[in-house]
Amino acid sequence: NQQKNMLPVYPGLERFNLVEKMGDGAFSNVFKAYDTKTDRLVAVKVVRKFDMNAHQRANILKEVQIMRQLKQPNIVELYEFFESDEYYFLVLELATGGELFHRIVKLTYLSEDLARHVIVQVAHAIRYLHEEKGVIHRDIKPENILFEPIPIIPSAPGFRPDEEDKEDEGVFQPGVGGGGIGRVKIADFGLSKVVWNEQTMTPCGTVGYTAPEIVKDERYSKSVDMWAMGCVLYTLLVGFPPFYDESIQALTEKVARGQFTFLSPWWDEISLEAQDLISHLLCVDPKERYTINQFLSHPWIKSGEPLVQEQP
Ligand code: ADP
Ligand code: MG
Repeated sequence: NQQKNMLPVYPGLERFNLVEKMGDGAFSNVFKAYDTKTDRLVAVKVVRKFDMNAHQRANILKEVQIMRQLKQPNIVELYEFFESDEYYFLVLELATGGELFHRIVKLTYLSEDLARHVIVQVAHAIRYLHEEKGVIHRDIKPENILFEPIPIIPSAPGFRPDEEDKEDEGVFQPGVGGGGIGRVKIADFGLSKVVWNEQTMTPCGTVGYTAPEIVKDERYSKSVDMWAMGCVLYTLLVGFPPFYDESIQALTEKVARGQFTFLSPWWDEISLEAQDLISHLLCVDPKERYTINQFLSHPWIKSGEPLVQEQP
């Protein structure tokens, strides 16, 4: 069909049959593709070298280097990396549902149960990164949170066909209706960074020659992911972000002061536990902000059962 004819052809990528475009960024295009060698569907992130300076090229290699260390069910896996004269190619585990961002737009907002289902999985990815790998993601946002749809089970109680998946209701209950959000996977390690271990004050990885001011600077750097998780959770529950202004300057001011509210009427029906958790994440002082383990111990997180069984 026409869509297919419009897909580009990349020299060096002959092993893969491109199926459709899944997303794009400043330098990259991401395609769903069929890998003829491994006989599976994958995502291929194609990065144009041409537009990039040396620093930006080095960043892609860093992204690859970090992703290679990671293996966790809530993180998109990097299968392979190779390059041609013109492009870098990252062969990634495919998240067939695409971006969480599009789901929020479609559903307006999520029920507390579904929001918990999503954010707990993001948290498991972050706990793995922070506690086991010493990695900060630094770009947690709905566009970089991908998902696998829940398989449609017509016999499930409350099942409605896709057409009746009403947008006007707003709330989408997991397991009800066509589709839904199954396993959540975080992507895009383009801004991620390896940091020092907070407890031992030793570098994660190699023994280095890093100066104390760097170590001090990085002591609370993991907290940037926790702030972002607060913004994501807020957005999941009401469908708009905690900080917004048409003027970039005014927005920057609001963020700097941590000036947000649980706006009525949108927050009226949402539990105080959810609001308490968000308040501990959108907290200006990084020393006060919840760590990933505090997040996972919070009553609101504990109050629900995960819908997707975690793999060991
Ligand atoms: P960028 O650094 O340009 O933001 P990303 O890695 O975030 O690149 O990819 C851009 C977009 O491509 C994502 O927001 C998403 O829509 C899509 N995408 C990326 N990786 C995958 C994947 N593994 N499965 C499905 N879609 C993906
Ligand atoms: Mg991205």
